[in-house]
Amino acid sequence: MKPIPYGRQSINQDDIDAVIEALQHPYLTQGPRVAEFEEKFAKYIGVDHAVAVANGTAALHLCALALDVDHSTNVITSPITFSASANCIRYCGGNVYFADIDPNTILLDLNQVEALIKSKPDGFFDGIIPVDFAGLPLDMEAFHQLAKKYGLWIIEDACHAPGGSYLDSQKKEQFCGNGKFAELAIFSFHPVKHIASGEGGMITTNDPQLYERLKTLRTHGITKDPDRMIQNHGGWYYELQELGYNYRLTDIQCALGLSQLRKADSGLKRRRAIARRYDQAFSGSSVQIITPESSRRHAYHLYVIQVDNRKELYDVLRENNIFSQVHYIPVHTLPYYQQFESTAKQLPNAEAYYDKCLSLPMYPALTDEEQEFVIETVLKFAK
Ligand SMILES: *Cc1c(COP(=O)(O)O)cnc(C)c1O
Repeated sequence: MKPIPYGRQSINQDDIDAVIEALQHPYLTQGPRVAEFEEKFAKYIGVDHAVAVANGTAALHLCALALDVDHSTNVITSPITFSASANCIRYCGGNVYFADIDPNTILLDLNQVEALIKSKPDGFFDGIIPVDFAGLPLDMEAFHQLAKKYGLWIIEDACHAPGGSYLDSQKKEQFCGNGKFAELAIFSFHPVKHIASGEGGMITTNDPQLYERLKTLRTHGITKDPDRMIQNHGGWYYELQELGYNYRLTDIQCALGLSQLRKADSGLKRRRAIARRYDQAFSGSSVQIITPESSRRHAYHLYVIQVDNRKELYDVLRENNIFSQVHYIPVHTLPYYQQFESTAKQLPNAEAYYDKCLSLPMYPALTDEEQEFVIETVLKFAK
């Protein structure tokens, strides 16, 4: 059997045709496909505005800039995430604090967040970056209420969860990253994520001011909008009004993103079918799985199990050409973060989870036979 990775992109002829067509267009970047991708993605998520950027990390960095993060800013995030969720605060000189996870969902624990807030003087914290880890939707309404109580902003890291949703207290379906209960949300289009554009990212928001600022920050901090310029020397004129970056996404990448977006629903359906099959296979075994409450519709970027002897299982799978992965090494334990007093403390739930977790193959192109082989190999080990 050929190698089975934990995640990978699905590229078909439509995607290839879309990219070739983009290459033949006069604009390889800053052309019409960028706005089209933004509009269609915003519609998919159910949000007013979307800003396409170079990658998910750039999306986080721009969010931090747009919220005026600096050396006096203190932000809480989850230890079980990709380190970029925390790094964006460090890029701007801010301080990162980690609160522990809920062991049942592996998501940032609201009570732990509140305990951390209360352990510091009033007004100490500025924001929270919760993560829809593995694709399991956060209860953003609850986070919003907490944030309001303490005057904090929220950036929802929804990289794992495009298409995921949950029911709010009014039983209304809310899609991850829809900006209803957060200032900003971000997505990534790295090939292991749901929608691939090579590299790529998106910021979503319902706030028109943040939206305008993000568009300027994405392109150096330059504006060409006559209404916003201080002077105007003529048609060529532009103004650098604050320090931004070149974090643009090309039309070639947006063409691929648009083509992938058309298949997002079918891909999500396939991911959920794969998850159901794993769930059934592992129920009643020693393999621990995460079963979402019925009010949350999981997007399954990852399918995570927890087992004793995780390292041995990882090695056994590898010998069988199955490349599972560990998501994640708790960010607060990484050497870079160990140097800060704010992050040096222990988080027992995150660390206990890390000892046992393993992400099994989960992507729409995974065949039934491949999945059967993965299940057999895991169960033979776990019996
Ligand atoms: C992938 C990912 C990112 C970063 O996205 P890139 O496009 O790789 O820069 C940030 N946060 C989470 C949770 C991710 O999974």
